[in-house]
Amino acid sequence: MYVDIHTHLTHERFAHDVDAVVARARTAGLGAIMVNGLEPVSNRAILELAKTHDIVEPALGLYPVDAVCHLLPDDFTLRVNRFDVDAEIAFIRSMAGAGRLSAVGECGLDGHWLGPETFPEQERVFEELIGIAMEYRLPLIIHTRKRERRCAEILRHSGAQKVDFHCYGGKAKQALRWAHEDGWWFSIPANARRNEAFAKLLRELPQARVLTETDAPYMSAKPGERSEPAAVVDTVALLAELRGWTVEQAREQVWTNYQSLRGPPGQDQL
Ligand SMILES: [Zn+2]
Repeated sequence: MYVDIHTHLTHERFAHDVDAVVARARTAGLGAIMVNGLEPVSNRAILELAKTHDIVEPALGLYPVDAVCHLLPDDFTLRVNRFDVDAEIAFIRSMAGAGRLSAVGECGLDGHWLGPETFPEQERVFEELIGIAMEYRLPLIIHTRKRERRCAEILRHSGAQKVDFHCYGGKAKQALRWAHEDGWWFSIPANARRNEAFAKLLRELPQARVLTETDAPYMSAKPGERSEPAAVVDTVALLAELRGWTVEQAREQVWTNYQSLRGPPGQDQL
């Protein structure tokens, strides 16, 4: 089966047809769609979505920009609602404790939209979320932009092993090293055919560390179009092309990798 490990089906662009989008993913052969949360509204919507769609796997988290909503100026570039961040961390912990989560995410650090004055608070929230994932043995789905090395330091220091970097935009060489040395996973979005860095990761990551995602509605294979989970099928086809595998081999490998990210630590091999 195919897997989309990072998507945003609670985005307003799916509001009118989310059931059809999930149905298309199922028809395309997906066995799991991990819908990732950003802040209180999406976190709750994901739990609802998971009740009605058995292939939806809920990941709750705090996007680094939302995590510092109280530090942002009123005229900040992105539209960000303020909320009680510590209450949301407590909510995520309670849902993890109740066995309702498949992962913690997205979470991480951002140095693209945000400046250094926000870094200590970003890191505090990130560390809290890592703590929840480790306490309940859940994978972490990581967002990082321009803060890759610091993210890795914090993850390493915490001893986190079940880690997937989503849409990793740092140096490919560094990602390959972390996959080998730290055993972390990397999920590649649907635009890899027109993005040499993602194609390189598909080609060169240890085969047991490759995952697929869409970040839908973003990161579409066709610029400007809305992406959706079924788009992972073409990323797997590309993986097969780049490695000289059959599509079935590529699909099975990624599905096995997904299972090992979800499973108990220490049993997965590179
Ligand atoms: Zn995302």
